[in-house]
Amino acid sequence: MKVSLVKLIILGPPGTGKGTLAVELAQKLKLKHISTGDLLREEAKKGSSLGREINQVFIKGGLVSEEIVGNLLENNLPEDNFILDGYPRDLNQAKRLEKITEIDYVINLHTPFEIIIERLSSRRVCMDCKAVYGINVPSKREGICDKCGGRLIQRKDDNPETIAERLETYKKETEPLIKYYNNKIINIDGNDIPSKVLNITLKELDDRNIKVRA
Ligand code: ADP
Repeated sequence: MKVSLVKLIILGPPGTGKGTLAVELAQKLKLKHISTGDLLREEAKKGSSLGREINQVFIKGGLVSEEIVGNLLENNLPEDNFILDGYPRDLNQAKRLEKITEIDYVINLHTPFEIIIERLSSRRVCMDCKAVYGINVPSKREGICDKCGGRLIQRKDDNPETIAERLETYKKETEPLIKYYNNKIINIDGNDIPSKVLNITLKELDDRNIKVRA
């Protein structure tokens, strides 16, 4: 049987649950999850001069230069069957991506800003497997990952000043992409527990003939 291939983007403000949903969709639909945030954090951890440059931007809550992100993306983007999380983040990036490949659908995950601020302030991430915990998804033992036993840490950019700046950057740079992608947009309400958000999204994709794979 011929399996159809799919190219998805997940769009939404920081803290809306993009990363969590992208990982779950990737598992269910057998897609590769490409997160520019994760790729940048890997690079930043290396402590190279490039890593230090990235860290500076993280702390301020702005966007990393297109030269750095665009190259990381081009080196990591498969031809097909992927969900792209964190890219594009502005119109220039959307145009660059369009030259590389044609996207099928764009999932627009939206959640009110007040809820986002609460979520991001309480977010903890596993140092080892990157699982995410927070108000809606607390870990069983404080500071320890349920999945792998790794240590839970707070991301450097999850502090009040940086969160405010990231939301501003989103409004100014990323939100206009919703109009840009227009008829490819699938709107999803992110203001619910992850399992419900996942099921609603799977249903929307199923309606467009993108099916869960065994
Ligand atoms: P969030 O969406 O919660 O801010 P990400 O993990 O997607 O988290 O991104 C973290 C940071 O990485 C962003 O605040 C930004 O500085 C940088 N970043 C990620 N993707 C891009 C991109 N496509 N272009 C520029 N900077 C990016």
